[in-house]
Amino acid sequence: MTTPVVALVGRPNVGKSTLFNRLTRTRDALVADFPGLTRDRKYGQANISGYDFIVIDTGGIDGTEEGVEEKMAEQSLLAIEEADIVLFLVDARAGLTSADIGIAHYLRQRQEKTTVLVANKTDGIDADSHCAEFYQLGLGEIVQIAASQGRGVTLLMEQVLAPFAQQVNNINENGMIQNVATNNSEAEADVVQNTSQQRDEWDTEFDFYNEEDTALLDDVLEDELDSEQIAKKNIKIAIVGRPNVGKSTLTNRILGEERVVVYDLPGTTRDSIYIPMERDGQAYTIIDTAGVRKRGKVNLAVEKFSVIKTLQAIQDANVVLLTIDARENISDQDLSLLGFILNAGKSLVIVVNKWDGLDQEIKEQVKSELDRRLDFIDFARVHFISALHGSGVGNLFESIQEAYACATQKMTTSILTRILQMATDEHQPPMMSGRRIKLKYAHPGGYNPPIIVVHGNQIERLPDSYKRYLSNYYRRSLKIVGTPIRLQFQEGS
Ligand code: GDP
Ligand code: GDP
Repeated sequence: MTTPVVALVGRPNVGKSTLFNRLTRTRDALVADFPGLTRDRKYGQANISGYDFIVIDTGGIDGTEEGVEEKMAEQSLLAIEEADIVLFLVDARAGLTSADIGIAHYLRQRQEKTTVLVANKTDGIDADSHCAEFYQLGLGEIVQIAASQGRGVTLLMEQVLAPFAQQVNNINENGMIQNVATNNSEAEADVVQNTSQQRDEWDTEFDFYNEEDTALLDDVLEDELDSEQIAKKNIKIAIVGRPNVGKSTLTNRILGEERVVVYDLPGTTRDSIYIPMERDGQAYTIIDTAGVRKRGKVNLAVEKFSVIKTLQAIQDANVVLLTIDARENISDQDLSLLGFILNAGKSLVIVVNKWDGLDQEIKEQVKSELDRRLDFIDFARVHFISALHGSGVGNLFESIQEAYACATQKMTTSILTRILQMATDEHQPPMMSGRRIKLKYAHPGGYNPPIIVVHGNQIERLPDSYKRYLSNYYRRSLKIVGTPIRLQFQEGS
């Protein structure tokens, strides 16, 4: 089951953006202004009550023009096409309008979509009497919410998502606990704020390990981290990136070189194709968002890039290959995609493609540009390849395996607590109101990405800088590469 997609539609000013922001709680939505795509659809990732979903905000359906089709701006129609669930918002304060009637008429024809009529802005009014007239729309029950206060929102989402459920903390096919994006703010603290300046700070701040600690850690790591457990598990790889960066070429290259178990699978317009393959005895599934081209055939795909496909592939993957074109500057879309990958807690390998035929000077320029723009992401391996000629493609698999191994490696309470002690010995947590914040112990909270739960006193007062220090300390101690890690803090024991 892929991640469900929820579209917010309704005339302007009913509260769609307000609801979008409340659902995604993110600063940066992915705005779909990729070439060849209609503008003004905003995409966000969200998790409510353990349900993962993707939200699309359609900007506005303007009710002033003639005819339903005109009333519904093109992006809203596209969003409805892409969605599993349509939340049709109306304004309980403003009452029924002709635009609402037009939209309802259209939605009634789309029986296959789960459509829910949502009356917003029910705060401070007699909601039942204000909402009664919306029954005329013929869309059944009306769910009352107040998006700006958040009232009714969780309930609404639980109700619509339950049938599409993809629960947090489910046991995935590897028999491991998969904890999905429950604490995005922590993840952001971990990755987004790691600017190079802060990294320099840490580097000088900690004199990494005395010999005794190093020996101890190596011992424990060897003992306790059972890397064998990941062998032979199927690793799902999503190849994502903007249009024309070379995703199809890379997919073909990988598949052409390796033993392909199944090749010709029918793909639909919305769903990615899953292609199983094997390499050196390891099973992989390539999630192909671009559409594999059959060799020898000219591909005439018009809009082969789809944001939803890309986001779902990211959600579904174990390791994401973010593909960037060496001949183009890093764009906001590249950064948005990166944001989604990190937000979803996915392992990441950065692939700079089209590295062929560039002279040395250009290569240096590209590298320094990458350093500058991606400096907040210091844990991912970067590969410079040519998908066209095949150079560097094989090496990707080492980083893929490494990232997957790190994301799923076993952590134990004893080693996490020991590392916590080492970190606090080296730098004590600060004093707060005359009392020192005390960090007591840590235990694993999940894998994929690794989650470390730290317990202590006054822990909610721990400054972000110290959280970053800890996160970095764990990363280095556990030699975690290629995956974000998450620290969660809990008061008491
Ligand atoms: P959109 O055009 O549909 O995206 O609507 P917005 O999200 O921009 O909201 C339009 C206006 O309605 C803004 O001034 C919001 O603050 C207000 N608004 C949104 N939700 C609520 C609500 O639940 N209650 C009240 N009273 N106002 C709301
Ligand atoms: P997609 O839209 O991301 O799937 O990109 P494609 O795989 O269709 O590639 C877009 C264009 O870039 C095609 O003309 C490819 O031949 C070209 N291309 C892909 N990889 C490379 C590469 O490594 N080097 C060069 N020079 N061109 C490439």
